[in-house]
Amino acid sequence: MTCACLGIGIASAHAEALGPAWVLHRGDDEIQPRRIAPAEVESEARRFRRAVDTARQRLQRIRARIPEGTPADIAEFIDAHILMLGDAAIAEAPQELIRERLFAAEWALQVKRDALLQVFDEMEDPYLRTRKDDLEHVVREIQKALLGDEGNGLDQDLDGRIVIAIDLAPADTILLHDRGAAAFVTEYGGPMSHTAILARSLGIPAVVGVRHATRYLRAEETLIVDGGQGVVLAHPDSLVLDHYQHRLEQARAHHAVLRRLLARPSRTRDGVNVELLANVEMPGDLERARDSGARGVGLYRTEFLYMNRERPPDEEEHLAAYRAILEGAEGLPVTIRTLDLGADKGLEGGEIRCPPAYNPALGLRAIRLCLKEPELFRPQLRAMLRAAAEGPLRIMLPMLSQVNEVLSVRRLLEQLRGELHRDGLDFAPQVPLGGMIEVPAAALSAPLFARHLDFLSIGTNDLIQYTLAIDRTDDEVNYLFDPLHPAVLRLIHLTIQAGQAHAIPVSMCGEMAGDAHYTRLLLGLGLRQFSMEPHGLLEVKEQVMASNAAELHHLAQRLVAGLDREDYRRHLEPLLQTAS
Ligand code: PEP
Ligand code: MG
Repeated sequence: MTCACLGIGIASAHAEALGPAWVLHRGDDEIQPRRIAPAEVESEARRFRRAVDTARQRLQRIRARIPEGTPADIAEFIDAHILMLGDAAIAEAPQELIRERLFAAEWALQVKRDALLQVFDEMEDPYLRTRKDDLEHVVREIQKALLGDEGNGLDQDLDGRIVIAIDLAPADTILLHDRGAAAFVTEYGGPMSHTAILARSLGIPAVVGVRHATRYLRAEETLIVDGGQGVVLAHPDSLVLDHYQHRLEQARAHHAVLRRLLARPSRTRDGVNVELLANVEMPGDLERARDSGARGVGLYRTEFLYMNRERPPDEEEHLAAYRAILEGAEGLPVTIRTLDLGADKGLEGGEIRCPPAYNPALGLRAIRLCLKEPELFRPQLRAMLRAAAEGPLRIMLPMLSQVNEVLSVRRLLEQLRGELHRDGLDFAPQVPLGGMIEVPAAALSAPLFARHLDFLSIGTNDLIQYTLAIDRTDDEVNYLFDPLHPAVLRLIHLTIQAGQAHAIPVSMCGEMAGDAHYTRLLLGLGLRQFSMEPHGLLEVKEQVMASNAAELHHLAQRLVAGLDREDYRRHLEPLLQTAS
């Protein structure tokens, strides 16, 4: 049989895998309407409650098995699912159907699920659409327990198999990875879906959005998953097989070469030092950061402190978290970002909520919310000032659009220092205050921000979203997300220039900084600090060490001068070729 391209999905993790297919069937189409006898009502309700407990225990077990150093996203997804298992709509409502309409437990749950899904379908909010996936995952966990299908075959040894699924719950993704799965292919999902995020974090290849994959593939068929290209190939002929086998061998050899770079300084061929830092979400991530040779933390996201709880954390809790990260960083600098809540970073339940907004991405989020709600902001800033007395901590403000926001924070910090002094607590008299350039207005007025801040950090994930008017969580428009758009490059360049003119450091902490394809371009534009997910760091370092900064500067000057021209991509080419 000749090789067939089974599907082109969305590239989700830059890696390739070759192996036999393993198809995960959902099993919920097997649930048929079934009624019970009136005398069975209580035992059926009990069976349902036991299934909810089993599902909870299973999720808790999986959560405890999350490997040290796995990004916080993973634990947060599972925590959210554990929390949903306690929701009355899931835990109680099906029992009413069992009692009142004599539905069997599986059927009662299915009927409730369908009703809830319909409610979600009527909502347009993209954040709530993700919640819909969560609901499906949670219901499936209970169904698995009810059907006595604990594990659904998930517990078997997968040993290099490629998992094909309609979609995957975060818990299953971890379990399958644990069992030795080599790659994931799912029918649903976009680049920001759970599976895509988790696969990237776990560093294994994935292609999502391959429609009908479970229908066309059979178990044990040989597959090739090209996570970089977003392609799944079935029945590879010997030519294709040889090609990919060779690439996999090269990748393994390349990995070994990269490890050797660990001990070498991050310096270009012409002697320019380039600082490579890690983006970190939880203290546990620090191990991966250290293992990659990161010289500090360029972005510590603090949203996890606020997740899955009723009330916001108090000052002492903040302080404990910041002490832990400083301690883990062993003297290297740590940049802590103040709360960036809102838009794609929502919270479930509790008192900590962004007020409903017509358009959450343009609403009261991040620094805007913190300045509006000082009671939310003050404990965080007080704790940062206190922790900074114990280690090299820098404060970073997200989503700035007005210089006044910086001035307000500076005033608040002054006030808090006065309070800490009166309270007799230790604090740092000077803490570097930086801001994220994530909104075109901030990039266009970067010289103004540079005058009032100690450092700038370019958040390309949001900067690209706002510059190109593309919701970063919306699969429908994701094809327009383009870091190389001339408008984006112009804003990056303006920001770097502003930093140079005011002699303050400029880093980049959006995903673009961790993609080695862009390293030469960014070096050419003058970037000297890159902060990224640790797994990409050595590849970026390899590019840095193979580059000549002066040469790249020259090429980038030509590019910047020609950004208005239709053929500007011709000038881009030499800046995108990666050295190997
Ligand atoms: C960014 O926007 O580039 C960024 C780093 O912040 P986040 O992804 O947390 O919004
Ligand atoms: Mg951002």
